[in-house]
Amino acid sequence: MHKVIIIGSGCAGLTAAIYTARADMHPLVLDGYEPGGQLGLTTLVENFPGFPDGVNGPELIENTRKQAQRFGTEFRSGAVTAVDLSRRPFRLTAGKETYETETLIIAAGASARMLGLESERQLLGHGVSTCATCDGAFFRNREIVVVGGGDTAMEDATFLTKFAKRVTLLHRRNEFRASKIMLERARANEKIVFMTPYVIEEVQSVEKKSVESVRVRHMGTNAISTLPTDGVFVAIGHDPNSKVFRGQIDMDENGYIHTHDGPKTNVPGVFAAGDVQDHHYRQAITAAGSGCMAAIEAERFLSAR
Ligand code: NDP
Repeated sequence: MHKVIIIGSGCAGLTAAIYTARADMHPLVLDGYEPGGQLGLTTLVENFPGFPDGVNGPELIENTRKQAQRFGTEFRSGAVTAVDLSRRPFRLTAGKETYETETLIIAAGASARMLGLESERQLLGHGVSTCATCDGAFFRNREIVVVGGGDTAMEDATFLTKFAKRVTLLHRRNEFRASKIMLERARANEKIVFMTPYVIEEVQSVEKKSVESVRVRHMGTNAISTLPTDGVFVAIGHDPNSKVFRGQIDMDENGYIHTHDGPKTNVPGVFAAGDVQDHHYRQAITAAGSGCMAAIEAERFLSAR
């Protein structure tokens, strides 16, 4: 029987681990499919407080993990495949193992949707990004392509004009899913060029380990052309990693877990932190903050019993 199990080992989960470990709760962290979360997929992080010269995402995660280990956190690899939150202790299954816990912190994160191209995967963190606020500043006076037709794409494109010489907003249809106000704001921006209906076939150049251009296909004519660019921001949405909790915990129609009074869910003893419950801020520092809140609430929940 565990006092607390933390699902997810990104910024939120590891911060919750540090705090619960220091509260003598002997946390068990189940790593999940993407150990380290989104930070593990990025390169230089310049907006995490305390690092005047920036810090590499994987290094930041590794250090936070060591910090959690130092206070006695136990880690197991593997993702949770089934949960029973209908009574306490809560029961979790991960692979062949079954766990029981008095409190649960869900910090399973959200995965950025990707285009699914091999070249995109290889150049992620080398000119391909899924986070405009994290990586925009690396593209001062450069050319950027933003992919997507929703509010995230409009918001990212508009934000990136602060840095970029020009932003090409590339979308697969002529119609946009984005809200009118955000679409109009992007259209009114002189630095944004709209390019529709196009899809990216390949990001080049994998050989040089940096983005130099994208090979694009016109959806109507199938004509192929090449667009020089220094960066590609994939802004086609996120999927919260909450499928396994569906039907057992309140979430919105997109799968983001509902929280109230900080990290509390509708199930007493179950707390949620980080991107699995936050589609608004999605920052490493806000995820870490909410992980801390979840740990404090889990500790108070146990103490009250
Ligand atoms: P959405 O699901 O709304 O939009 C995703 C976009 O990406 C769509 O235009 C879609 O195209 C395109 N897309 C999806 N998959 C692919 C693919 N494989 N290849 C090419 N294009 C693809 O996601 P968002 O992240 O934009 O928004 C999510 C939610 O968050 C929305 O409710 C939005 O309103 C909200 N939001 C609000 C903001 C604000 O108010 N400030 C800011 C950001 C988000 P298609 O349309 O053809 O399906």
